[in-house]
Amino acid sequence: MNSTKILIVEDEKDIRCSLSELLRKACYQTIEATNGRSALDIFSPGIDLVILDVMLPDMSGFDVCSAIREKSTVPVLFLTAMGSEADIIHGLEVGGDDYLKKPFLAGELMARINSLFRRSRFYNAAPHDKKESFLFCGPLKLSLDRNYCENNGLSVQLTDTEYCILRLLLKRKGDPLSPRYIYEQVWNEPFLDNSANTVMVHIRSLRRKLELDPHHPKLIQTAWAKGYMISKKEKA
Ligand code: CA
Repeated sequence: MNSTKILIVEDEKDIRCSLSELLRKACYQTIEATNGRSALDIFSPGIDLVILDVMLPDMSGFDVCSAIREKSTVPVLFLTAMGSEADIIHGLEVGGDDYLKKPFLAGELMARINSLFRRSRFYNAAPHDKKESFLFCGPLKLSLDRNYCENNGLSVQLTDTEYCILRLLLKRKGDPLSPRYIYEQVWNEPFLDNSANTVMVHIRSLRRKLELDPHHPKLIQTAWAKGYMISKKEKA
């Protein structure tokens, strides 16, 4: 049994138990919550990932995610029965990293979880001995080695997904990157119809955190019909 802890927030007993069983078989430790309040009571910095149902009896999973985001950048995977485009986008806007529509296959779930852990493990590892390298763009400073970002001298809390997107754009400064390319690089999964929206929502969230005027972005620009880019000229 490894020490990785996954918090499962799901009111439907059958789904909660089968999720827990599946994850335990994969050697994760699981903690279960049946509603939003208890999820927030249980949540602690020791939790490594949250699987969050949207329709909970006392509050919505979206509100639970917003509350978690006030104190943590832990990976959050939404389980949604609704699955409409608007719901999915809302889930990502409140800070979710990814979503899975019910009913889902065990293989799909494990692929999502592995992809989230890959991002978070890689970039939240303990600082190693070698000197840390940074990428710069105007007042923006991003570590190449871990999820650490500064803008105008102040540290900015990014989720691991946001960090990975920003790192990719900065490494490829001057190149417009298509949503497909960004998705395949960061999520490490095949690009589907909804994936462009998933990328768009995370770009919007990055702009909210980094731009003076998120509606008129200077740092992360939209290259019409091509994708997103950070200009080589330092305008931000
Ligand atoms: Ca539910």
